[in-house]
Amino acid sequence: MAERIDGKKTSADIREEMKVEVDEMVGKGMQRPGLSVIIVGENPASQVYVRNKVKACEKVGLYSEKYELAANVTEDELLSLIDKLNNSDKIHGILVQLPIPEHIDESKVLNAILPSKDVDGFHPINVGKLMIGEGTLLPCTPHGCMVFLERYGIDVKGKEAVVVGRSNIVGKPIAMMLLQRHATVTICHSRTKDLAGHIKRADILVAAVGRPEMITGDMIKEGAVVLDVGINRTEKGLVGDVHFESASKVASYITPVPGGVGPMTITMLLKNTIIAAKQAQGR
Ligand code: NAP
Repeated sequence: MAERIDGKKTSADIREEMKVEVDEMVGKGMQRPGLSVIIVGENPASQVYVRNKVKACEKVGLYSEKYELAANVTEDELLSLIDKLNNSDKIHGILVQLPIPEHIDESKVLNAILPSKDVDGFHPINVGKLMIGEGTLLPCTPHGCMVFLERYGIDVKGKEAVVVGRSNIVGKPIAMMLLQRHATVTICHSRTKDLAGHIKRADILVAAVGRPEMITGDMIKEGAVVLDVGINRTEKGLVGDVHFESASKVASYITPVPGGVGPMTITMLLKNTIIAAKQAQGR
């Protein structure tokens, strides 16, 4: 039976460590790390995410600001807010909650955030740095998965890692992070031939597809480590891309949904804000 990778506990442990780290920074006379979160429009799910991010900041001792802009805000108004925050000494991280309304060019907005304040790790400069192994502000969800591997003592070197999904926010960056840790990495997607054959080879399997319980236990190699990034709302509640019950019987480690990768995303956002604040202050 697989060991359950506990996202809530790992996340809580890291947040405790971060609280101490922030206290130490402030104690040494450094500025308190500050995060600005911008939300455009009234998407209820986004409002919950933003509220949780702000609450999490407070608990760890970060300074935070929330900007709620009307759905009809112009692109120029949003860009000028980003410009103001780019130039603010109090703010080390800027996050624009996606999605944003269609009349605004999403990539223009994300690219307007200073790379040194891009705590989502989505700016092309930070994507490029990750590619060449010099990333410091890493995308939060895949980074959270890598932290699981570290904290559970799972060695990646020389292992077959199979990532199902090639999105810019999860699939591609985690593939790059696994490669840097010396895994042999395969990236699968909707046009992959013999997906089952690839999955069966995986010592480390990352599922980032968005299809409820698509990967079942019989598809997984005995002893594989399974990181399930999927979050799917179904009639029976939230489920991942992996069928947890059957996969638990063959895997060595597995993340549940909910309570696995999910809680780590905000934690890694806070971590990036601390990293950005330290870098801004020459540490
Ligand atoms: P996405 O942008 O929709 O990408 C999904 C990927 O899966 C695509 O690359 C797609 O291939 C591939 N795919 C779709 N159907 C497939 C199939 N039948 N066989 C093989 N590959 C298939 O999704 P995402 O943003 O990466 O998110 C993936 C999942 O993770 C979602 O459930 C999302 O809610 C969840 N998520 C969770 C967190 C968290 O905090 N835990 C954060 C982000 C995302 P193509 O490229 O060929 O279309």
